[in-house]
Amino acid sequence: METKYKSIEAIFPPPPFHMVGDGFRVHNFFPSLPQIGLKGMSPFFLMDYGSKWAVPPSDTPRGVGVHPHRGFETVTIAYHGKVAHHDSAGNSGVIGEGDVQWMTAGAGVLHKEFHEKEYSKIGGVFQMVQLWVNLPAKNKMTPAKYQSIENKDMARFLLDDGKSYIEIIAGEYKGLKGPAFTFSPVNMFNAKMIKAGKADLRFDKNYNTCILVIEGEIKINDSKTAPENYLILFGHDGDEISIEAVKDSVVLILSGEPINEPIASHGPFVMNTQDEIKMAYEDFYNGKFGYLED
Ligand code: MN
Repeated sequence: METKYKSIEAIFPPPPFHMVGDGFRVHNFFPSLPQIGLKGMSPFFLMDYGSKWAVPPSDTPRGVGVHPHRGFETVTIAYHGKVAHHDSAGNSGVIGEGDVQWMTAGAGVLHKEFHEKEYSKIGGVFQMVQLWVNLPAKNKMTPAKYQSIENKDMARFLLDDGKSYIEIIAGEYKGLKGPAFTFSPVNMFNAKMIKAGKADLRFDKNYNTCILVIEGEIKINDSKTAPENYLILFGHDGDEISIEAVKDSVVLILSGEPINEPIASHGPFVMNTQDEIKMAYEDFYNGKFGYLED
């Protein structure tokens, strides 16, 4: 079968950072970059990237207090540092280096996200990604759910150099499936590559696809290179991607089937219509998201 590389649509430097609460220093690649917008990476709606940040020690953990979500899933990937999570569905957990927390807000949940206590006391390098994965209309009001995905639970595909590998969080790579349950087709991988290591990827033409360079530098499709903290956005004219590690590198690979439905979003809610957004605020103010202590 004839295949062709997906074109490289753009390589974005990290946008200026902003703080989420006092604990998360993030670059928002989307939806704020106009070239991506609300739908350019659907089903992924939002990417907040916390590039490496030396967090000073603090006896009071930094983070973001109780807030609601409805209509989508939050996926937090920790590369350095530790995050503690609590939600009104009664779920809590700590995600450490290499771990992923996949929270389905669905019909509604309150949660809080802070640096883990012991990590906070000592401080140190912090690096993470938070994604919002949109839900199809038919699943927006699904009950809240929590998947704690530890690094050891992820599938691993060893690459040709025998040292580099692909970690599969969700979706499938060459027959290996990731542990995350998803409501629509989503591929989420980390490629952890030694210098000169190579990987080839294949995703449907119509899937929205991007790669975030977490560490190092990579060469894509034998043509362009992208350094640490840059995001590569792909077009829809082919189905293959090649990656070569210019240095020892870690990259986050996202590809999914677009959800072709209207989006109405405001603050912590991602719905299909403005009426549904109004309803989300009403339900929140009427205590229908449950209770969570500050
Ligand atoms: Mn949140």
